[in-house]
Amino acid sequence: MQRILQPGEIEALDKVSFPRVRLPQPAALFQERAARLRQLADGNPIADYLNFAARIVDAQQRLAAKAPAAEPVADEIVQRANANGMPLLPASDALEPAWRDVLRALVADVRADATTPAPLHPVLDRLAATDDDALDALARQALADNLGREDIAAAPFVMAALQVAFSARAAVVDERTVPYAEPATICPVCGSAPVASVLRIGGEAGGHRYLHCGVCETEWHMVRVKCSHCESTEGVRYQGLEGEGITAKAKDQVVLAETCSVCHTYRKLVNQEKSPFAEPLADDLASLTLDLLMGDTEFSRASSNPLLAIEKPLAV
Ligand SMILES: [Zn+2]
Ligand SMILES: [Zn+2]
Repeated sequence: MQRILQPGEIEALDKVSFPRVRLPQPAALFQERAARLRQLADGNPIADYLNFAARIVDAQQRLAAKAPAAEPVADEIVQRANANGMPLLPASDALEPAWRDVLRALVADVRADATTPAPLHPVLDRLAATDDDALDALARQALADNLGREDIAAAPFVMAALQVAFSARAAVVDERTVPYAEPATICPVCGSAPVASVLRIGGEAGGHRYLHCGVCETEWHMVRVKCSHCESTEGVRYQGLEGEGITAKAKDQVVLAETCSVCHTYRKLVNQEKSPFAEPLADDLASLTLDLLMGDTEFSRASSNPLLAIEKPLAV
């Protein structure tokens, strides 16, 4: 007869298996991301953009390395979030004034770099001159992926600053207090959408698929058979680059578009088994060609890359 596990035993099993969430170590993460962006720039059709993104990430790394440790999340916030299956620090509601200091420092850092393209100077100067309330409003629009046409060029800088501010707060979260947020497709720490998912290698997380938050850089586990957008297990398939086109047979690629025939979206899966230094945000950005080809299919991109400013087609 099969023995039924008691609740305590299930928890004990859970502890010895693999981490449900992987909280960020921001300075190391930004350093690895910048290095990966430069590696992927080699021979890439968008090499200039990837190198520029790497310089933004360098600035993030410098700011993350010198940031004081964030305050731990208050017990009552932890309890309320867990009781309601809500993210711990929903990004739009939990903006702190410190994020603006990060933005202004980041803008100054990039502006002082002689290699920053001249067309970006007015964008950076405008951001530097924006007052506190207008910056917060801009942050909320960027987090909702709802920036006006005139603000699109500022998006990567605003998102980069928010990443530094929120990853610092996620870094001090006690892993055991992270809620099981509903839906499971949003970040349990900050409620944002994943930028991509990653199949990890090495350590306890090895062999497991994690969704990587585009804002606070937390990763949370989701089984591979589930769509990372609607959680359906019905229609998950993969498309990868092969030659000039895309094919369902490109299983050896580091980056695949994981498509779902239920919600008609796709999100990329970055596979470290194929390339150990693969990094979700960097590999997603560098595989823009795959997005362009996916644009001709029935699948639309589930969520944006925070470091890419793209104007969305007008709703008809
Ligand atoms: Zn998050
Ligand atoms: Zn789906």
